[in-house]
Amino acid sequence: MLHPAGTDGAGRAAPDRIPLERIVAPRSVAVIGASEDVGKFGGRVLHYLIRHGFPGRILPVNPNRAAIRGLPAFPSLGAAPGPVDAAILAVPAAHLLRQIEDCAAAGVGAAIVITGKLADAGPEGAALERRVVEVARAAGMRLVGPNCLGIFNMTDAAMLSSSLALEAEGLRAGGIGMVSQSGALMGTLVSLGHDHGAGFSRCISVGNQADLDLCDFLEYLIADPATRVIALYAEGLKAPRRFVELLRRARAAGKPVLCVKAGRSEAGAQAARSHTASLAGSFAAFEAACRDAGAVVMADPAAMVLAADALDRLPRLPRAGMGLAVVASSGGSTATTADMLPAAGLRLAAMSEATRAVLRRWMPESHVHLPLDTGSFDDGTSEEGLRECLRAFLRDPDIGAVLVPMTTQPAMAARAALLPPLCREAGRPLLYVMMAGSVGDGARAAMREAGFPFLDRVSDALAVLGALEAEAAGRGRAALAPPERPAGAGPPPADLPEGALTEAEAKRLAAAYGIPVTRERLARDAAAAEAAAEAIGWPVALKGVSRSVVHKSDLGLVRLNLADAAALRAAFAEVAAILERLGGMEGVLVQEMARGEAELILGARHDPEFGPLVLVGAGGVLVEVLADVQLAPAPLRRDDALAMLRRLALWPVLQGVRGRPALDAAAAAEALVRLSWLAADLGPRLAEMDLNPILLRAAGGGAIAVDARATLRARHQRGGTG
Ligand code: ADP
Ligand code: MG
Repeated sequence: MLHPAGTDGAGRAAPDRIPLERIVAPRSVAVIGASEDVGKFGGRVLHYLIRHGFPGRILPVNPNRAAIRGLPAFPSLGAAPGPVDAAILAVPAAHLLRQIEDCAAAGVGAAIVITGKLADAGPEGAALERRVVEVARAAGMRLVGPNCLGIFNMTDAAMLSSSLALEAEGLRAGGIGMVSQSGALMGTLVSLGHDHGAGFSRCISVGNQADLDLCDFLEYLIADPATRVIALYAEGLKAPRRFVELLRRARAAGKPVLCVKAGRSEAGAQAARSHTASLAGSFAAFEAACRDAGAVVMADPAAMVLAADALDRLPRLPRAGMGLAVVASSGGSTATTADMLPAAGLRLAAMSEATRAVLRRWMPESHVHLPLDTGSFDDGTSEEGLRECLRAFLRDPDIGAVLVPMTTQPAMAARAALLPPLCREAGRPLLYVMMAGSVGDGARAAMREAGFPFLDRVSDALAVLGALEAEAAGRGRAALAPPERPAGAGPPPADLPEGALTEAEAKRLAAAYGIPVTRERLARDAAAAEAAAEAIGWPVALKGVSRSVVHKSDLGLVRLNLADAAALRAAFAEVAAILERLGGMEGVLVQEMARGEAELILGARHDPEFGPLVLVGAGGVLVEVLADVQLAPAPLRRDDALAMLRRLALWPVLQGVRGRPALDAAAAAEALVRLSWLAADLGPRLAEMDLNPILLRAAGGGAIAVDARATLRARHQRGGTG
């Protein structure tokens, strides 16, 4: 029996835990349940190790065989010579614990557990998984999985997996590192990337994450010199704050992180007391936290791997916010591609005069515009013309990237081959789309040979360009100074109750942060209401006060534009009667009638995973229907607040449309920044808060909150679901 360093064989002191580097690139690997039969998990693992040229020692373990595929086999791990860095197990769940005990006893560094049906299959499996973790921990042995598909390490030719993705010939080593909670999806993405010529550094499937988790391998990839871009597929995060911290670290290291997370479509899980709770669910919070940390959140895993490849093998965008040039020899493909840009959040560039001058040499003036159809070239689609025009594009100050949607035409492969050198020389990304089917395979092969990415669909190219844009924006965030607290933002009033606040209480809280709110007074009878209106100035609004009502206007508790005492008294009587029916008349709120050109919602809540966050969107009573909202972690910089407003579908309205004036976006941003400090100060105490609506006036006229709602938690309570 051999004892690895740190154990004495008798006392079985836990060995030093093996570093992740040695798990991903082990010097020796045991395959538990190895066989000749590639129809079996253990047979496939062994087959792929050999086939992809694993450079270390392979130790097949099988009690019934003396040799397998020409390698000496061992009846148990204890009988195998020398220290074992990693053991791969794909045994049935019923045999797993015994095998893990054997691995632990033999001082194996890490067990890579492909076996499934553990915590993923119910309470019984979860209990077994806990036992497995206990045994491993006691021995200082690390675990990858269970229920994972292992590790592909293209950099070191260490394929520790049974995934069919390893059927591919010559998986290329490259800069893409991947961590995935789904082994099947990881294999699929590697296979897709491989067909496009992408190269991977290490791909790790973490499965149930019983011991090592996604964050552990993310941290490893950030430090890994072979990895230039990181792609993640996540389902649930064990440590959300650590995850966000690592995203920041990756950005600081200059490594873009792309992420797809399941759960995007999940409806707001909680029974919402506020608009913010229903609009700002946990996925939205995740996305906002990732964007803030400079990472790129994507919806489609296939587009993620294509984007990772573009970030690995193409130059990056010089900066965020630049335009695109679309160019090809088909008026059809260029026009439809241009049509698809706005919905993808992209735009055609404004060409410089220098660029136009180059184009004029090759085509009639009437064709000098984007998208560019090279079919209009004076001397046909000349090679030299194409080259000159592309060079001009890639130098243009407003052109961040060039998109070439190639259609069927003569000499497709030769045309394609012109592009890679131009792109490399210019240092800006050029995305080549071969839109045709198999007749385009020659062009695809030419690109693969040139080591240049290609795409098959314009929609993929747009998703990739969106990711490049988000990467450039994230890169720009690294140098930002921390947010600054505006004068007069806080502290919060000391005497606020717990639970649901009334409109007046919530407005007092908002006002303590310098957010403008309506002038108003509480009144218990009609005479007091009239006196309040006289003091505030006619016309007034009158609202019934009740802690239990979420949407006042739905119940007839909001009366607007009351111009005189008679109207006020009539409204008072009706509102008082409704309040009595609801269980008691607490009073009415008399407030100034505010005017504005647009209604916004501002919201805040404390997310149990990602902390305080704010929301802004199209406001009023239809907010859930419009669902036009943007989120960000609190506190905010003023520029971030403005950027959130710009991302709203409502933004053109704020800029002034159809003869309407431009609105005071700066005042909306200011109120959002102030609300973000409120959220940051209250922390977990703030379950949720809505200012809905805030009325926005013409530029310079400011903004004012006419309604407010908030729910506070007890000071000692932490987290919760909000
Ligand atoms: P709810 O509880 O139904 O959200 P609000 O107080 O928001 O009640 O009132 C409903 C709508 O009435 C608002 O969306 C806004 O359009 C209008 N409104 C309410 N208060 C005022 C006010 N003081 N000045 C102008 N409009 C108001
Ligand atoms: Mg309201």
